[in-house]
Amino acid sequence: MLNIALFGPPGAGKGTQSEFLAREYNLHYISTGDLLRKEIAQKTRLGLEAESIIAAGGLVSDEVIVQIIENTIKDHPEANGFLFDGFPRTYVQCYILEGLMIKLGTSLNALISLEVDEEIAVERLLKRAQTSGRTDDNETVIRTRLQEYNQKTLPVMDFFREKGVYQGVVGTNPIAQVHDDIRAIVSREMRKHAVNIVLFGYPGSGRGTQGMALAQRYGLEYVATDMMLDEEIRCQTPLGRKVQDYYETGILVPDEIVVPLIEQKLEHRRDARGFIFKDFPRTLVQSYILDGLLKKRGTRLTHIIDLKVPTLELISRLDQRRLTDRCKPYDTTTARIVQHLQAHEQRTLPVIEKYEQFHGVTSVDGTGTQEEVFARLEAALAPVFRNN
Ligand code: AMP
Repeated sequence: MLNIALFGPPGAGKGTQSEFLAREYNLHYISTGDLLRKEIAQKTRLGLEAESIIAAGGLVSDEVIVQIIENTIKDHPEANGFLFDGFPRTYVQCYILEGLMIKLGTSLNALISLEVDEEIAVERLLKRAQTSGRTDDNETVIRTRLQEYNQKTLPVMDFFREKGVYQGVVGTNPIAQVHDDIRAIVSREMRKHAVNIVLFGYPGSGRGTQGMALAQRYGLEYVATDMMLDEEIRCQTPLGRKVQDYYETGILVPDEIVVPLIEQKLEHRRDARGFIFKDFPRTLVQSYILDGLLKKRGTRLTHIIDLKVPTLELISRLDQRRLTDRCKPYDTTTARIVQHLQAHEQRTLPVIEKYEQFHGVTSVDGTGTQEEVFARLEAALAPVFRNN
């Protein structure tokens, strides 16, 4: 999960920046101010309690805030992460946020503060008052809100600074610049917490089907060398024609062709939540290359999975696939299939052994229906996604 809180005085631009952040990173947006205004409009018990306090520019009690935040979080168990706007606003609310994050098995990644001088904030809010229709956008109430901010909200900064998650951004820069500065912070955080999986398994073990399903389920970018190479062949690029020759002779496509394709893909999807690699790394050399490529992005491999299927079943599956339109150019005869399986054994098993020694490999039973295998993979990965 990626959890971000936007911080700053009223008028700092939190609402404006939240819109793009929530959309771009697929976060569930929680604005305590918006939620309270909704409660007021619906005349709920909480709304009635908050109405006069908001109109006067004071802060609503922590008890009310904890209830509305907790309800919202509970209603969105599927969220990719949360974006908080206007919360936490008191020192007590810092602990509330910590507690809520612990309950979700996660933590706050960054408190991003939009730094804006008080007079600029007043100026902006008075301008907003012309169109916002908010009862608390008038000069007297604005001054009270800023006073509350200075007294009760500023200590929040120290709380998160001590935790090492406070990040300041100049909030008076043009909107697009602020936007870029925030994006740089969030992207860095995302890369730190990225989930990068290698899905090993013999040809025919179901890596492709399962890899794509996992990528979709967890919002990861699927990186499969066979798909990328097939695309080059389909478009009949010069590279594609070379690849076709390699396929026909049964020789592994060389690293000079594969590596730039992988590098392009990583570069192109800089903000991916993580990657799932299939068919790469296939050799020890490629395993070192992948480490290097990920390091360049400020991230690393986090999980290695080996899908296990007995050899006779693999031959039977590939032999059946050979007769369908899903037949791969390198699997057109039984002899070629066996050659392909042997290549995996010779070149790729040592890579899995290397990971076993230095990293740990999770073996998953690849027999049974697609759904059964997927459920096993989900069970193996569930703790990972709860904590990231
Ligand atoms: P906002 O839309 O964030 O400017 O919030 C409008 C008003 O809602 C504030 O002036 C407070 O009265 C109240 N409010 C919003 N969030 C909080 C919070 N976390 N704690 C206490 N009061 C809040």
